[in-house]
Amino acid sequence: MSTDLESPSPRAGILDIAAYVPGKEHAPGVAKVYKLSSNETPLGASPKAIEAFGRAAGQLERYPDGQAIELREAIAAVHGLNIANILCGNGSDELLGLLCHVYLGPGDEAIITEHGFLVYRIQIMAAGAAPVTVPETEHRVDVDAILAAVTPKTKMVFIANPGNPTGTYVPVAEIRRLQAALPKSVLLVLDAAYAEYVRRNDYEAGIELVSANRNVVMTRTFSKIYGLAALRIGWIYAPPAIIDALNRVRGPFNMNAPAIAAGAAAIRDQAFAADAVEYNLRWLGRLTAELEAIGLTVTPSVANFVLIHFPDEDGRRAAEADDFLTARGLILRAVRGYGLPNALRLSIGPEEANLAVVAALAEFMGRG
Ligand SMILES: *Cc1c(COP(=O)(O)O)cnc(C)c1O
Repeated sequence: MSTDLESPSPRAGILDIAAYVPGKEHAPGVAKVYKLSSNETPLGASPKAIEAFGRAAGQLERYPDGQAIELREAIAAVHGLNIANILCGNGSDELLGLLCHVYLGPGDEAIITEHGFLVYRIQIMAAGAAPVTVPETEHRVDVDAILAAVTPKTKMVFIANPGNPTGTYVPVAEIRRLQAALPKSVLLVLDAAYAEYVRRNDYEAGIELVSANRNVVMTRTFSKIYGLAALRIGWIYAPPAIIDALNRVRGPFNMNAPAIAAGAAAIRDQAFAADAVEYNLRWLGRLTAELEAIGLTVTPSVANFVLIHFPDEDGRRAAEADDFLTARGLILRAVRGYGLPNALRLSIGPEEANLAVVAALAEFMGRG
């Protein structure tokens, strides 16, 4: 290790971390741009949330409620949970980071999956621990692969369910089988950022598993179905001992007041969320069918995006398609960084954007 006494140096391992690169936002020189790269909702936030946000503007000199009671009560009421088991965070990203800092350290391992969300890897490494990546099977999390990777050093397992960027899900029976086979000292993190969108009888976000065990937590977000990504609101449902540990480490005012107010109003407006689910289901089916009709392969998704595979080995076609779409103001997510060089991820957008993507990709594929 080099010791440079002339300037501060980060802890060992920090400079090995590849910083998160968000989806691209701009298409230079194109007048009308549709950002379909970050799984944002095309429907915006509930008008009630926007109104609550506006009201909060009148009291910006005041510190927020450090317990975020109003928001936790609203979440508890909607989901039928005990408020004591809920902790809110500045996006679920903050909560994922807190979990790693509290439960991992040098010498520990945490299991992530082949195409898993990149934030896990970053936070595991930031805590000084080692990420252990296990293969997925046809873009699905493979419970047996996870179990095969468990060692005495394993402290955590991360699963996005549904997965991002795959859009696939793990049935609750498989999650139960995983939990039952894991050592009780291993913390299973179920990241259910897209849970609200899923309409499958064999899916559960994780509430029952958390309630029945001491080593399972579920994280959720207001960034997707509730359309509040700008405000950074996430929450975790966890056993009391885990909530207690996280509370010792988090910032005392980690939730800002406009976020608390808008989040509470958003989750109470379940009629708005139901419309968003319906809109999404309609387009999920239609986009999948239309993209397959033009010769593309689409991984079956239960979320608000689809993973589109291009017929290619080396990622050249996906990169060309990305450029082709960007030149037309259609910004998708390149997912090479997720181990998917031949694919692009498309967030379901407004109708005109969805139609424009299908038309542009039909033209692109027609060119051979
Ligand atoms: C979008 C997303 C989140 C949400 O993160 P926030 O910090 O709450 O905005 C979490 N996990 C996954 C897998 C996601 O795709």
